[in-house]
Amino acid sequence: MNLCDYGEITKLLSDFDFRFSKSLGQNFIINPDVCPKMADMSGIDGESGVIEIGPGIGVLTAELAKRAKKVVCVELDSRLIPLLGITLAEYENIEIINADVLKTDLHALINEKFAGMKVFVCANLPYYITSPVIMALLESRIDVEAITVMVQKEAAQRMCAQVGSRDSGAVTVAVNYYSEAEKLFDVSAGSFMPAPKVDSCVMKLTVRSSPPVAVTDERFFFKTVRAAFGQRRKTASNSISAGLGIPKQAVIKAIAECGFSPDIRAEALSMRDLARLSDAVKNNLC
Ligand code: SAM
Repeated sequence: MNLCDYGEITKLLSDFDFRFSKSLGQNFIINPDVCPKMADMSGIDGESGVIEIGPGIGVLTAELAKRAKKVVCVELDSRLIPLLGITLAEYENIEIINADVLKTDLHALINEKFAGMKVFVCANLPYYITSPVIMALLESRIDVEAITVMVQKEAAQRMCAQVGSRDSGAVTVAVNYYSEAEKLFDVSAGSFMPAPKVDSCVMKLTVRSSPPVAVTDERFFFKTVRAAFGQRRKTASNSISAGLGIPKQAVIKAIAECGFSPDIRAEALSMRDLARLSDAVKNNLC
């Protein structure tokens, strides 16, 4: 069946009495050029295992299954499971798990399903959880080669931003710390059904073997980064003390020890600055 044909999809969805859920970020790809290109550029081959987040009706899944050894999809919407049984019936290397990806133990999934394989993540992400999914994939340090994701343009801009620039945020720091980010290609809003309001972009995050800066406590570093960017309009000292629930004096002292201005904001700090600051804050708490 042609999963990019408007008429065929409409009939399939109506046979299953399926209505799109806006709250689950359901915009399915109907442009036939997008999924083959995305699968080709993701780096997977016949020996690879692939995790797909949110298969929808399986348009990207089919392209991944043609190229990989095995594809495991995590789909939250239980209404799509019987439908996927039909659209992907011809492929024997696909497994569908009906679960929330943010509550799925991906370490266990990789060990259980992909023993001996190089693993990749490939997904057209639901826009409402783009940052949490990317942060979770990177921070959990799951053993994957690369993460190829379609995200809305604004999210792509944040992911690609320079740490220490106006556009940077906690996700920028995580992306740069754990991976080398590359913008692959743009996808117009008209490539989806239903069409979202904004265009999208496919990004590839190739996981680094070691981070670009050293920190004494990685978990604390990311807690500090999240806190620092949590209240963008406030100074780093205010956001960090509020976000971590620690005395402001300890943060002010750490900022002074690093030689930064007392009213510096998180977006002005480079990766190295953030690493030094989190180490200094931690020291002041000990
Ligand atoms: N891959 C399909 C495509 O490209 O046409 C669908 C992509 S659509 C943007 C996002 C998909 O993610 C939907 O199928 C939606 O039901 C699913 N989804 C939403 N939240 C999810 C979650 N927390 N865990 C797993 N899947 C989720």
